[in-house]
Amino acid sequence: MSKVPVSFEWLSGCSGCELAVVDMHEKLLKILDAVEIVRLPILADVKGYPKAKLGVVTGALRTDHDVECAHEMRRSCDAILAFGVCAVFGGPQGSGYAHTQRELQESAFLANPTTTTKFVPDQGVPKLLDEGVRPVDSEIDVDLYLPGCPPPADTLWQALVALLSDKPVALPYELVKYD
Ligand code: SF4
Repeated sequence: MSKVPVSFEWLSGCSGCELAVVDMHEKLLKILDAVEIVRLPILADVKGYPKAKLGVVTGALRTDHDVECAHEMRRSCDAILAFGVCAVFGGPQGSGYAHTQRELQESAFLANPTTTTKFVPDQGVPKLLDEGVRPVDSEIDVDLYLPGCPPPADTLWQALVALLSDKPVALPYELVKYD
C-alpha cells in the first residue's frame, strides 16, 4: 500500500506545535508506516512544497512571508489542518497588538542586549502585516481545525489515525489543561 504524503509548514509561532509532533515519540514511527512526511521544517530543511494529501499548518499569519507560505500549502495539499490556537485563532502571537510595529522592532533590534545589530533591518526580513496577526483561514480555505497550545501529542496522533482511516476525528473536550 502506498504511503499517504503529509506536509507540514511552520508560520509565525513559538515552535511548541512542532515539538508536539516530535512528542509523539515512538508513535511517530507507527505513523511513518502509513504516511510519508514530505516536509517538516523542524526536522529537515526541505525547499519547496511537495504535493501532499494532508497539509498541517502551525502558527499564525503575521508577515507577508507567512501569507505566501499559506498559499503554497493550499496549492500543494489536498486538505489543510490548522494545528494549534495560533493557526486556528491567531493565538498568543496576537499579543503583538499591544504594541506598534515600531515598538516591536525597536525592542527586537535596538533595545535587546543580545542583539548586536543596532538598526532595524528593512531588507531580507519578512514584512509584518499592517493589520496585525490573523488566523490561517483568513487567507486560505481550511478543512480541519485542531486547537490547543500546543494540541497534545496524543490528540495529533488520534487525528492522524482517524484521518488516515477516513473516520471522523473525535477530539477531547479539554485541549488546554490547568494543573
Ligand atoms: S499554538 Fe501555542 S504552542 Fe503552538 S505555536 Fe502557537 S503559541 Fe506555540
